[in-house]
Amino acid sequence: MDLEKLKKNVTARGMEFFYARTAEEAKQHVLEQVRNTTVGIGGSKTVDALGLYDELCKTNEVHWHWKDGALPEVYRAAEQAEVYLSSVNGISETGELVNIDGRGNRVAALTYVVGKRVFLLASSKKVCPDLNSAMDRARKVAAPANVPKLPGNRPCNTTGQCWDCRSPARGCCVMQVIMFRPMNAAKYELVLIDEDLGF
Ligand code: SF4
Repeated sequence: MDLEKLKKNVTARGMEFFYARTAEEAKQHVLEQVRNTTVGIGGSKTVDALGLYDELCKTNEVHWHWKDGALPEVYRAAEQAEVYLSSVNGISETGELVNIDGRGNRVAALTYVVGKRVFLLASSKKVCPDLNSAMDRARKVAAPANVPKLPGNRPCNTTGQCWDCRSPARGCCVMQVIMFRPMNAAKYELVLIDEDLGF
């Protein structure tokens, strides 16, 4: 991984970049900046592994469907919060951030952000040389690892591989590439963590 190249290309797109050697460092970095705000969280093994939900609940109003139930009002409150936390499924050294979503709440919350603070927390293992390989990673590594947790039958449940299926239960339905700049005065920050976290 070319860390300097990644940092240069992410910041050139108007996003902030923070490199954390450990998950704990990343966690403290986020906590320091979001105290006493409303926080929404998208489905993320990385955010869960950092234990951010419990810590944030001490000083913040937090909305997360993984903890509060997969209810329309929970998704809505998360989307409308002042701060949004998520991970990404692929990162290119050229500065693009890739996500795949099944329900759309996460990519919606990361797309129409008005004046919001967004933290994207991701393991350095998700960094790829270019956009094509980052999209490939999202489709072939992250999606078949994530999707089988959802109800329904599809080929990746049993094979652990993506077959680009047409199953009605397909759990990876939309791909988002944060490619150019954050919109609507939103403040994005990529927090890259030098530990093996998430899918
Ligand atoms: S396209 Fe189908 S097989 Fe591939 S990860 Fe998505 S649900 Fe699984």
